Amino acid sequence: MDIENAVDDLDAGASPGAAGDRPSALSPSRASDFMTCPLLYRFRVIDRIPEPPTPATARGTLVHAVLERLFDRPAAERVPAVAADMVEPEWARLCEEDDGLASLLPDESERSQFIADARAALTGYFKLEDPRRLEPAEREWYVEAELTSGLRLRGYVDRLDVSPAGDIRVVDYKTGKVPLEAYEASALFQMKFYALVIWRLRGVIPRMLQLMYLSGDGEVLRYCPDEADLRATERKLDALWAAISRARETGDWRPRPSRLCDWCRHKALCPEFGGTLPPLPERADPAAAPAPAEASAASSGPAAASTAVRAR
Ligand code: SF4
Repeated sequence: MDIENAVDDLDAGASPGAAGDRPSALSPSRASDFMTCPLLYRFRVIDRIPEPPTPATARGTLVHAVLERLFDRPAAERVPAVAADMVEPEWARLCEEDDGLASLLPDESERSQFIADARAALTGYFKLEDPRRLEPAEREWYVEAELTSGLRLRGYVDRLDVSPAGDIRVVDYKTGKVPLEAYEASALFQMKFYALVIWRLRGVIPRMLQLMYLSGDGEVLRYCPDEADLRATERKLDALWAAISRARETGDWRPRPSRLCDWCRHKALCPEFGGTLPPLPERADPAAAPAPAEASAASSGPAAASTAVRAR
């Protein structure tokens, strides 16, 4: 199980048979799902339809694992050749822990390509920074905080750097492609989510949010949030939770088709594409839905456009 799925299970109530129980908290991934398409959120959180790993998601899991463990090594050993050598043992370890990963690549040539792709992503990482000069304060850090409305937010931060002066940098690794500028706000929304959680936890607004895209030549997206940004993110999340609660009360999980449907794992069930919806799980408990402040903008899409700095 990868980190995102672990948090998703927490979102949905992790015990078997809990399908349909009221989610108790939001992760950035599920918040993003609802903004993308309420029906996609339903499939993932309410119906809890399994999504077996794909080579792309597995590659992300593997690269994250190598980057996390690279910092266990002495600084002088954090070099490209060492990272490349870590790929196969890390993959073997992940496969031991997860049968879904173990059975993903039965074909040897596919497996070789998969390993090569993971190494290429790590090569991209080394083009962006030199880990010998870093000592992260946290890696794969589980965070959870409650907003004034009572909504709990949680997730895993890939890496947290803290300078001697106490400045915080939140780092997230991405193995997918760099988003088009039109989708940049969506990528930054996740980082603002984490910045808000850290602000609530530590009382300090992170100085910088840094998204590192490892494919190709690599690219870094940096953003410096301020208090107004994070307060707006909090309002957005409260409004989003209100919209999710309304959907739970009414059972109206409306599909919102977009270009992202091409990547939707549940397209075959989606009425927009001729599918038939499964019945809602019996244990859904509409009356239990919380009611943070209502706001009509909740499901209208990612947070307002932000200005970020791109750098290669
Ligand atoms: S195919 Fe598109 S509209 Fe249908 S559930 Fe998936 S994202 Fe939503």
